[in-house]
Amino acid sequence: MRILIIEDEAKTAAYLRQGLIESGFGVEVCANGEEGLQQALLLNPDLIILDVMLPRRDGWSVLTALRTAGRPTPVLLLTARDAVPDKVKGLELGADDYLVKPFDFAELRARVRSILRRGPARHPEILRLADLELDLPRRRATRAGQRLELTAKEFALLELLLRRQGEPLSRTFIAEQVWDVNFDSDFNVLEVAIRRLRGKVDDPFSQKLIHTVRGVGYVLEERTG
Ligand code: CA
Repeated sequence: MRILIIEDEAKTAAYLRQGLIESGFGVEVCANGEEGLQQALLLNPDLIILDVMLPRRDGWSVLTALRTAGRPTPVLLLTARDAVPDKVKGLELGADDYLVKPFDFAELRARVRSILRRGPARHPEILRLADLELDLPRRRATRAGQRLELTAKEFALLELLLRRQGEPLSRTFIAEQVWDVNFDSDFNVLEVAIRRLRGKVDDPFSQKLIHTVRGVGYVLEERTG
């Protein structure tokens, strides 16, 4: 079981790290929110211990970005204040539990174990990028509030691109994930599907989100300029 700690106070981070390693967990530590979010997306840990007050990107923003990217990774929030609005906000944003500082390590370990036993909670699954939104339970895609009529394959393709947004995905990988087959280097079906998807998602709008990555495949991301 791998735990990511996002905490800028070196003493607290070291204390948590030591205790969790002694309890048999694999541990990674990040000291700011920006790096923490990147590592959370990259490592896909079993649990994240997330401090609210962080440099570069606060805990709220990390949690929101994580859920927006469709990651259900359990999050235990560390809050410095025993303020009810903070707890409510944390749980609404998709935290699984919270702990008020200062806390006892035994208490933290008990919460961690309890969260890991429960497994990832079912957070409302809505994937977003810019003004593009994919509502998974309702099987509905919209851009700038306008409904996009997608076929089942186009929906699956867009879901994959949104879940891995910012990551260039190879044609082989996309084919395996969406069509569950290996096209054996004939990617015609995939290219036609991408063209149709672009026609619906990008063509009517000035900002393009689906980009071709030469020699690789495709990436869904916001580009400026
Ligand atoms: Ca802090």
